[in-house]
Amino acid sequence: MNKYRELFKDIYSENQIEFNANMSEHIYFKVGGPADVLLIPKAKEQIVRTIKVCKENNIPYYVIGNGSNLLVKDGGIRGVVIKLTELNNIDISEGKVIAETGALLKDASKIALEHNMTGLEFACGIPGSIGGAVFMNAGAYNGEIADVIESAEVLTEDGKIINYTKEELNLGYRTSRVMEEKAIVLEAVFALQGGEHEKIKARVDDLTEKRESKQPLEYPSAGSTFKRPEGHFAGKLIQDAGLKGYSIGGAAVSQKHSGFVINKGGATAKDILDLIAHIQSEVKNQFGVELHPEVRIIGEEKN
Ligand SMILES: Cc1cc2nc3c(=O)[nH]c(=O)nc-3n(C[C@H](O)[C@H](O)[C@H](O)COP(=O)(O)OP(=O)(O)OC[C@H]3O[C@@H](n4cnc5c(N)ncnc54)[C@H](O)[C@@H]3O)c2cc1C
Repeated sequence: MNKYRELFKDIYSENQIEFNANMSEHIYFKVGGPADVLLIPKAKEQIVRTIKVCKENNIPYYVIGNGSNLLVKDGGIRGVVIKLTELNNIDISEGKVIAETGALLKDASKIALEHNMTGLEFACGIPGSIGGAVFMNAGAYNGEIADVIESAEVLTEDGKIINYTKEELNLGYRTSRVMEEKAIVLEAVFALQGGEHEKIKARVDDLTEKRESKQPLEYPSAGSTFKRPEGHFAGKLIQDAGLKGYSIGGAAVSQKHSGFVINKGGATAKDILDLIAHIQSEVKNQFGVELHPEVRIIGEEKN
């Protein structure tokens, strides 16, 4: 740990560094072992310097946003985790929402509503950060980041800060160029249209109601566990396979929505991974369909 303290002491103040950080406190699933070091930058410059130090010293690093699409394994993460949620400024200018990487998508959606701007209603209930949402091309209810993003500022793997236009971001179903290139999103600009406050609010209220009635928001999860397989819905396949409510240890297929694996209490990452594998094998055996996790799985097994 002293090695890390020495390497990062000029970049971070004491309260921005945590050693042996309990990752279950930083991800929605509330499972997972410790990260060697957790760094919490408040400025872009700190991110740039951190990556440089990691590369010079061959230290693995991983960026996280709000932890709502992550599963950290029980052995934790060797190296550095950079949590970006303290870079969370959101500005409005000429029909655009300009948000720093760690700002919450929900807050961007709320600010757009307050300024009578339409386009981000779909995002009102997605619990991720701007960076995580661009990385995943997050979407819901017929809307996705690709519909509204104008550009994103990113830090490339070789340490350059550049701007990608929407086209250059190659946003596809839960994929992006940022994901392909292991870049880090620093900021994003969304181009929205002017709209009527009441209509925007009605759409937000409607989507919130849909989400609250259909999703097991009372339990820790990472949202939809699997990507939508071509021509099917993951939740329906899982339900039809007879797995609704099925559990392994503290991990369970939600009774409310079979597309969600939840932590019903005291789950380990292994419980969740075992359940994911069981679901994949049942659905493959019964329907011949391969399910691929949407949730990002990181870290090491526990010995
Ligand atoms: C209850 C619930 C409901 C959900 N509903 C939806 C939904 O409707 N639609 C949807 O798309 N998703 C949904 N999700 C999943 C999740 O909220 C989104 O995928 C979100 O975009 C993840 O953002 P995050 O900041 O939490 O990312 P994290 O979970 O912190 O990270 C996810 C991935 O993004 C990468 N990443 C994070 N920040 C950056 C960055 N700045 N630059 C580069 N890479 C980065 C991480 O390395 C990691 O690989 C839901 C999750 C929950 C818990």
